[in-house]
Amino acid sequence: MSWQSGFEPIIKHNVPLAPLTWFRLGGPAKYLIEPRDAAELSAIVRRLNEEKIPTCILGGGANLLISDQGVNGAVIRLTAPAFNQVEISGAQVRAGGGQDVAKLVVQVVRAGLGGLECLAGIPGSVGGEIRMNAGGAFGDIGSRVLEISVMDSAGNLDTRKRDDMVFEYRKSNINAKFILSATFDMEPGNPERLAERMKEIWMYKQNTQPLRANSAGCIFRNVNGKSAGAIIDQAGLKGLRVGGAEISTQHANFIVADPQAKAADVIELIETVKSRVHDTMKIDLEPEVVIW
Ligand SMILES: Cc1cc2nc3c(=O)[nH]c(=O)nc-3n(C[C@H](O)[C@H](O)[C@H](O)COP(=O)(O)OP(=O)(O)OC[C@H]3O[C@@H](n4cnc5c(N)ncnc54)[C@H](O)[C@@H]3O)c2cc1C
Repeated sequence: MSWQSGFEPIIKHNVPLAPLTWFRLGGPAKYLIEPRDAAELSAIVRRLNEEKIPTCILGGGANLLISDQGVNGAVIRLTAPAFNQVEISGAQVRAGGGQDVAKLVVQVVRAGLGGLECLAGIPGSVGGEIRMNAGGAFGDIGSRVLEISVMDSAGNLDTRKRDDMVFEYRKSNINAKFILSATFDMEPGNPERLAERMKEIWMYKQNTQPLRANSAGCIFRNVNGKSAGAIIDQAGLKGLRVGGAEISTQHANFIVADPQAKAADVIELIETVKSRVHDTMKIDLEPEVVIW
């Protein structure tokens, strides 16, 4: 009997991952798995563990670079309706871990609930954004999280309350493998004014970041509060190219990729930037982007 027995409807083989990421680069996943609910996720995670198949979870693919070889294991996506529901109850909003944050922000703003409009222009899923505390100058997702439901790598469900969670600059202390849903603590507000604020933030991002290019957002973490983009700019690296990958001339912490680029071009460009910044400015840049 195959290890996949009973899970055939949710497992696809050799699925290209590039279209599922914002970089649009990289090879296929050996297995792409889209469980229909948490019980099925737990069951397949247990089966993958028994088979010792490496497993990872893909959100919106907005902070990821997939290598040209792809992923020789299982990639799980929370695309099923069970992981994409939004429930509004007073000033609390519960959203599934697979939910697209851009859609969630529009929905809560329309409902007259403020607090997440700071995420306008930050692509990703609820789970992916909580994992790395997505945000920026206007605020971050972590400051609104009340509670999350998680599953560990053995398939066990658990809950984390606000007091158990620490959110810092682009990181959280959430180690559980899967973030399945989150409850946000929101503030009632005027829908028109919230929509205006959301639009302002989005316009600001559009004017300062290459939002329409293929990228993964900021490539490097800021260094002791100093913008990595400013450091790369000072090192004179804007516009530097390797193959089809380029340091954005609009925002030096973005690498933008041409459609014919290879993931290897981006990886080489990352290494080149790291060594040039180290040599010229004695600063060690640390990637923010996750590389598979
Ligand atoms: C144009 C552009 C602009 C951006 N601007 C910003 C910005 O202003 N601020 C900012 O913070 N980020 C920014 N980013 C980066 C990106 O939006 C964030 O990192 C976001 O959190 C990625 O979420 P995701 O769901 O796409 O995660 P993915 O890229 O799919 O995954 C990233 C990591 O999170 C893990 N993960 C994904 N889903 C889950 C889950 N359900 N449970 C547990 N782990 C999970 C993955 O395994 C992986 O390790 C930008 C990206 C782009 C492309």
